[in-house]
Amino acid sequence: MKLHGIHHITAIASDPQRNVDFYTQILGLRFAKRTVNFDDPSTYHLYFGDRTGRPGTAITFFAWPGARRGSRGTGQVIAASFAIPSGSLDFWKSRFEEHHIFSERLPSRFEASAIRLTDPDGLPLELIEAEQLDDIDLEYESEAPNKFAIHGFHAPTLEVQQAKPTKELLKNLGFELIAEEKARRRFSLNSKSTSAQVDLIERADGQFGVNSAGTVHHIAFRSAGEKEQLRWRQKLLELGLHVTPVIDRFYFHSIYFREPGGILFEIATEGPGFRVDEPVEHLGENLKLPPQYEEHRAEIERALPPIMFESKAKGVG
Ligand code: ZN
Repeated sequence: MKLHGIHHITAIASDPQRNVDFYTQILGLRFAKRTVNFDDPSTYHLYFGDRTGRPGTAITFFAWPGARRGSRGTGQVIAASFAIPSGSLDFWKSRFEEHHIFSERLPSRFEASAIRLTDPDGLPLELIEAEQLDDIDLEYESEAPNKFAIHGFHAPTLEVQQAKPTKELLKNLGFELIAEEKARRRFSLNSKSTSAQVDLIERADGQFGVNSAGTVHHIAFRSAGEKEQLRWRQKLLELGLHVTPVIDRFYFHSIYFREPGGILFEIATEGPGFRVDEPVEHLGENLKLPPQYEEHRAEIERALPPIMFESKAKGVG
């Protein structure tokens, strides 16, 4: 039994409108779901990804207006990294310049060219060129041409004070060590898929990060279905980890636990996904609420700041 790759990465934003504008207009992702944080329905949970926000492409945000900036550090995913087609770095570099967004080339990462920037809340993002891209659905009108488009995740960086226990856990989840470069180790569930990889860095003298705007809240991995998820839960309990019960997130089911280095991990089921409560061509346009909050819709909508967004999806799903 092994996990099937990254499901989503959830980070914290402050202003929701600025967040939506950046991920759709600058990065060209699809706004795949506008909902609330199920644990705090007075705040948004916003999802971006490919046409349907499928697992492996979904970066999501808890939007906390007025949130202070957090600090990056150990016990966190310190960079959300995406795959881009080979030869597209120059396109992105000039696109960021045009929009007055600072970006810099990284020294080559496992022989791939990469660029680093931050989102409006200071969240570090990396775009890494990849020869082999995940098969994703780009059938929507994007601000970025398809030939340069972001193709889901590519080995985001996890930072911990001691690598060994985290390394052991990754192995228990089915990851294999496939490459090492200085302090960076790359672990993979499937060497053919960029979104099935993570990088691990040990920083023994590192300070623990503080979770707030501009930091990653958690990283989720995929299990095929609910039965497999329950088997994972059992296995994690046997490893002595504190795991939550299965939680119904409406678009998928989730369990959460902290890995030994302090990073919050989630294991989520593939489906049912974001088409379950609205047609694909209108994803992101309206606030969608899970059944338990529907009766409080008026109240919830009053508390949330409006988001201006018009979906430009092609085709009908
Ligand atoms: Zn999650």
